[in-house]
Amino acid sequence: MKKVNVIGAGLAGSEACYFLLKRGYEVHLYEKRPKVMTPAHTSEYFGELVCSNSLKSNSLDNACGLLKEEMRHMDSLTMQVAKETAVPSGNALSVDRELFAKKITAILKQFPNLIVRNEDVSVPPEGVCIIATGPLTSEALSSYLSKTIGQESLFFFDASAPIVKKDSINMNIAYKKARYDQGDDSYINCPFSEEEYKAFYNELVNAELAMIHDFDKSYFEGCMPIEVLAKRGFDTMRYGPLKPKGLQMMDRPKAYAVVQLRQDNSFGDLYNIVGFQTNLTYGEQKRVFRMIPGLENAEFVRYGLMHRNTYICAPLALNENLSLKNNSNLFIAGQLNGVEGYVESAAMGILAAVYAMHKLEGKEIPQLPSETILGSLHNYIIHADPKNFSPMNANFGILYGANKHNREESIEKSLKLIDEWWKKINA
Ligand SMILES: Cc1cc2nc3c(=O)[nH]c(=O)nc-3n(C[C@H](O)[C@H](O)[C@H](O)COP(=O)(O)OP(=O)(O)OC[C@H]3O[C@@H](n4cnc5c(N)ncnc54)[C@H](O)[C@@H]3O)c2cc1C
Repeated sequence: MKKVNVIGAGLAGSEACYFLLKRGYEVHLYEKRPKVMTPAHTSEYFGELVCSNSLKSNSLDNACGLLKEEMRHMDSLTMQVAKETAVPSGNALSVDRELFAKKITAILKQFPNLIVRNEDVSVPPEGVCIIATGPLTSEALSSYLSKTIGQESLFFFDASAPIVKKDSINMNIAYKKARYDQGDDSYINCPFSEEEYKAFYNELVNAELAMIHDFDKSYFEGCMPIEVLAKRGFDTMRYGPLKPKGLQMMDRPKAYAVVQLRQDNSFGDLYNIVGFQTNLTYGEQKRVFRMIPGLENAEFVRYGLMHRNTYICAPLALNENLSLKNNSNLFIAGQLNGVEGYVESAAMGILAAVYAMHKLEGKEIPQLPSETILGSLHNYIIHADPKNFSPMNANFGILYGANKHNREESIEKSLKLIDEWWKKINA
C-alpha cells in the first residue's frame, strides 16, 4: 500500500486525508492537538472551525457558493458534513460547529488505512507529505519551512487592504497619476475635499471593529490598521497614506487628502486601497470606505483584514502542483499556501491530495481549468505578483473570463469544466 503523510488535521488536512483514504492509500496523519493546542483551537477534533460557524454563502451567484458547489462535484468531506450538520442561516451555509468537527473526525477514523499520530511536527517525515498546518503553524515547523524556502517566502502576519474592482471606481472623480509624475501612472487616486475628509474621518474612528484575539494585537508600525492610525490624530492619515503632495491635478481644486489604489493583479481589473489594512467589520468597511470620493459604488472582491497568519509566498516558493520548489515531496495545502477562508482552505486540501496522488503514481496531471473558481484560486496564488502577495479568497474578480454580463454562463461553464476535470482525475 502506498503511503502519504499529512501534517495538520484542520479543514485542508481532513479533506486531503479523505481523498487519499478513499483511494486506498495508507495515510499517516500528524496532528499536535490535543497534546499541544494552538491559540485558537479548543478541541481535539479534526476540522475544527476556529471562529465563525459560517462557511459563507451557499448561493451560486456568490463565488464562495460556487466553490462549494464545485467541491460537492469533487465529493468533498467538508460539504458532505456541512450538509448533515447545517443550522438555519438564510442564504449562508452555517453548521453546528461541534457536531461538524466530531463528524469529520468520526468519518476519517473509520478508515482502517488511517494512522493518527498526535505529534507536534518540527521536521516533516520522509516521503510524500502534505503540510496543512494552517495560519497558526507551530513555531518549530515554521522555522523549518523558513529555512527550506527562504525567510522572504514565509509570512507570519496578514495585513491585507481591501481590493475593489476597477470598473466599479468612478473615474469621473478618481484619476490616474504617479506621485510627482514619477514612474508610470498606474495608481488610481481618489481626492478628498476638506469637508469630505472630515466626514470620512469621523465615521472611520467611530466604526465598529471585528473581534480581535489577543495574539492578533501586536501590530507592526509599517502595517498599522488605518483606523488605529486615524485615532492618533485628525491629520495623521494626511501625513501618511493619504498624503496629497505630488498628486494634485492642475485642472481640479486642490485635494485635502488623497487615497491611492494600486493595481493588484496582472490582468489589471483589481485594485487594492493602499494602506487600508483594517480591523473594521466587513459591513463597516463597505459603508465607510464607500465615503472615499470615487468609491461610492465600489465593488469589494476582498475586504481588508489583520491577523496572525502563517503563509507561504506561493508565487515564489510553490510549483504549479503545490509542491515546494526546493523539495518536490512536500505539498502545501490550505491557508498556509496563500488562500484565505474555511472553504478555500478545504478546497486546497483536495487539490494538494490530487497532486500528491499523481506524484506517487508518476502520472501526468490533467490541467485544472482556469475558468473554474478552484482553478482561478490556484492560478492566483501561483501567478500573483510576489512583491505584494497576500492571501486570496474565492471571488468573481479572479474567475478567468467572467464579467458582470456573463455571470450565469461563467457559473455554468465552471461546473461543467470541474466535472470534466474530476472525471479525468478519477480515470
Ligand atoms: C483566529 C482565526 C479566525 C479565523 N476565522 C475565520 C472565519 O471566521 N471564517 C473563515 O472563513 N476563515 C477564518 N479563518 C481563516 C482560515 O480559513 C481558517 O484558519 C482555516 O481553519 C484554515 O484551514 P487550514 O486547514 O489551512 O488550517 P487549520 O484549520 O488551522 O488546521 C491546521 C491544523 O494543523 C495543526 N498543526 C499546526 N502546526 C502543527 C504541527 N507542527 N504539527 C502537527 N499539527 C500541527 C493544528 O493544530 C490544526 O489542527 C480564521 C483564522 C484564524 C487564525
